[in-house]
Amino acid sequence: MSDRTLLLAGNWKMNHDHLEAISTVQKLAWALEDAKLDESQCEVVVIPPFTDIRSVQTLIQGDKLWLRYGAQDVSRHAPGAHTGEIAASFLSRLGCTYVVVGHSERRADNHETNDLVAAKIKAALAQEITPILCIGESLEQRQEKTHVDFTLNQLDESLAGFDAAALEGIVIAYEPVWAIGTGETATAADAAEMATAIRARLDEKYGSPLAASTRILYGGSVKTDNVAEILGSDDVDGALVGGASLSGPDFAALCKAAVAK
Ligand code: PEP
Repeated sequence: MSDRTLLLAGNWKMNHDHLEAISTVQKLAWALEDAKLDESQCEVVVIPPFTDIRSVQTLIQGDKLWLRYGAQDVSRHAPGAHTGEIAASFLSRLGCTYVVVGHSERRADNHETNDLVAAKIKAALAQEITPILCIGESLEQRQEKTHVDFTLNQLDESLAGFDAAALEGIVIAYEPVWAIGTGETATAADAAEMATAIRARLDEKYGSPLAASTRILYGGSVKTDNVAEILGSDDVDGALVGGASLSGPDFAALCKAAVAK
């Protein structure tokens, strides 16, 4: 058993407006209480669309809930003339703990490169927001058995230019693209293989303290009935959850199953 805190992060993607966000977070908080879960057992994070964050902040801070929250993306730029962008300093003012960077949907829809992802990580870290860096291979790469090399190259390039001190606390999410939103899940062995390879690469490049303390999540069709198996490896420290985080009670049930594993 590692001493890294189990992390369950719910990426809502472009789902739930701010009113739905309030009701979802309330139901999640009640269901977590019913399940007798608290921050001594795991960290639970919601990652809503930008337009929901103020409402989520007001609810979580006002009711002193132990949930944390974050954003799904961040601009590489400081505030200024960048229409449509959201600066890390704005997320910081809203109390965001985390920001997702390099999600495969953004890499695909917005042509985000590893260089851009690295710049976003830099912007987040400068505001003391923890990046959740998403990396993972396509189906073709897995079939060609180049998945480990591809994913580690994404890791290397997305973290280029940082040293171990800068990266302290960063979270890595291994998300095979073919498993996201498809109902296809990597096997526990697949998730473990990649998490172990990522940790070894962190060790090689940044040293053992960073490798030992960095949380590595699995993401891709994680549900209540498969989360315990996926978290079977000591190297997998939690899950980045899409569809199954959209309902408060369902996400709480998934968190309960993860804690019980
Ligand atoms: C995700 O969006 O990061 C994700 C893993 O989605 P899903 O759980 O729906 O596959």
